[in-house]
Amino acid sequence: MTVPSVKLNSGYDIPQLGFGVFLVPADEAEKAVSEALEVGYRHIDTAAIYRNEEGVGAAIASSGVPRDELFVTTKLWNDQQAGEKPHDAIRSSLDKLGLDHVDLYLTHWPTPERDTYSNAWQKLIEIRDAGLTRSIGVSNHLPEHLDRLVADTGVVPAVDQIELHPALQQSNVLAWAESNGMKIESWGPLGQGKYPLFEHPAVTAAAEAHGVTPAQAVLRWHLQRGFIVFPKSVRKERMAENFDVFGFELTASEIEQINAIDPGDGSGRVGSHPLEFN
Ligand code: NAD
Repeated sequence: MTVPSVKLNSGYDIPQLGFGVFLVPADEAEKAVSEALEVGYRHIDTAAIYRNEEGVGAAIASSGVPRDELFVTTKLWNDQQAGEKPHDAIRSSLDKLGLDHVDLYLTHWPTPERDTYSNAWQKLIEIRDAGLTRSIGVSNHLPEHLDRLVADTGVVPAVDQIELHPALQQSNVLAWAESNGMKIESWGPLGQGKYPLFEHPAVTAAAEAHGVTPAQAVLRWHLQRGFIVFPKSVRKERMAENFDVFGFELTASEIEQINAIDPGDGSGRVGSHPLEFN
């Protein structure tokens, strides 16, 4: 199965569907990522704070998959944004991953109270220029943070990885991305199992119409909206289910009905708010 790719502003391609490892314990990460690679995933999303980069690296090393067929993302944690710390942080991540470069390096949160996210962005530019990552981006940044990064450096992030699912569509960030040539990555694409997406009539109707599961219908919604997505599961059958989303297409009306799930007042958020997470 060929996963479509999305062209980033760096000129590199990213597979639109990947595998995320948030909350996968360190001692389970190697097995989970090995199974994901067996299923066919070639894009892995981890982070320093997930404390499982070593397991991810071990799975990559033993997989036999050529490095240039893999797309690996990791992230700079919030307490490593200041001064020259990002340079040490990427070297530590690369060490744990057993790689000489990642494909995408992100600042994890703006943490506005620290006011170090712009410094972190400047360091990410240096890290990219040193060849330690191919592309650079951010996570959980709102338009006000993105505007500041561009004002300070002139460099537009390749992606913003934000909480995004039918119940929280973040139209302000999507509009910024559209007008600045930045791509959107959806985290918590299935609502992390916290938001009852799988029982929503718009989702169940679309799933039934195509003979797929509600999770597959929601993932298909992300793909057709143009988002990059990396659902997480440690169960191999669900990894396979989440990867098997290229044999059907939602209609425009099904997409519209799933779009209408967002209550529009932010109440669909299941994770932290970027202005409050410090
Ligand atoms: P998710 O929406 O992918 O939900 C994962 C949960 O959904 C699983 O624990 C499982 O219980 C359930 N699930 C998965 N597949 C299923 C299926 N087919 N049927 C039924 N239930 C299923 O949430 P997530 O893991 O938080 O997000 C995906 C990835 O996004 C993470 O692994 C991580 O890589 C990234 N992420 C980033 C941030 C950030 O701040 N940048 C925050 C959270 C997650």
